Amino acid sequence: SIMPATLSAISKGARQGILFKGGVHLEHLSHLKAIAFDKTGTLTRGEPEVTDFLPLESGMKHSILSVVSSIENESNHPLAQAIVSYAKKNDCSFPSVENVKDHSGMGVSGQYDNEEWKVGKADFVGKEAATSYKDNHAEVLASEGKTVIFVAKNERIVGLFALKDTVRNEAKAAISTLRAYGIYTIMLTGDNDRTAKAIAEEVGMDNYIAECMPDQKLQEIKTLKDHFSHVAMIGDGINDAPALAEADVGVAMGEGTDVALETADVVLMKNDLPKIGEAIQVSQKMNKII
Ligand code: ADP
Ligand code: MG
Repeated sequence: SIMPATLSAISKGARQGILFKGGVHLEHLSHLKAIAFDKTGTLTRGEPEVTDFLPLESGMKHSILSVVSSIENESNHPLAQAIVSYAKKNDCSFPSVENVKDHSGMGVSGQYDNEEWKVGKADFVGKEAATSYKDNHAEVLASEGKTVIFVAKNERIVGLFALKDTVRNEAKAAISTLRAYGIYTIMLTGDNDRTAKAIAEEVGMDNYIAECMPDQKLQEIKTLKDHFSHVAMIGDGINDAPALAEADVGVAMGEGTDVALETADVVLMKNDLPKIGEAIQVSQKMNKII
């Protein structure tokens, strides 16, 4: 049977906008030593906007944007939606494209006019991207915390986009509270190293892992569990669900995807990050009483 102190902690949490799905999660939270954070949608708002579009073939600006937006139009990724609305603002037509494929954590590909197009991270569009990365201000853009997306046509880089997502106002304060509790913080993201570093520094993370594919997030949680006795993961996306399930405590952002909400042990209402600190406080008070 459930202890009165546990019941009272659960109802206290509910009043503060924290949903605990059971007493055992409060117990784990009270011993927490490390928290892994997803970046996009968790530390950031998850609503990126295109800040820069650099066509590398002169006179092709409009046509590159049109083909790319037609391909991205078939993807649900937040970056894809940002590129599509940028194209609409620039009065692009949406020509019909074929064989569009979404490569989770990498980018999208498709065919237009018998040519093969790829849009996504450097490794995905091809080796040449690494070179143009250095030659075309891409590194500067990434160091500003922007996500750089490359466009390749038949394996040749023809343009790049930079997109900026805003860090949540309350993220920095939430992280510093956790550090005051002696909890190790680490950010896991599929984004590239420069961008990840800029965001991790902005919010004050102890550490970060970039280029982290969805199944790698799960592996990183396993590794953290080898080093720390109690580990939490906080995220919002379908991609985060396996890691949320693997963590001692999976925490979902309240406006996250259904899969994340169902998999999590604790849900923070209204995407309010500082509630993770409050959740720990509630759990530690409960533990003292027990
Ligand atoms: P995160 O962990 O930051 O939420 P994802 O794992 O979803 O990121 O994606 C990792 C990277 O893959 C993105 O930063 C981007 O470079 C690339 N990517 C994924 N989907 C797309 C897409 N639809 N269009 C362009 N690039 C994409
Ligand atoms: Mg996310």
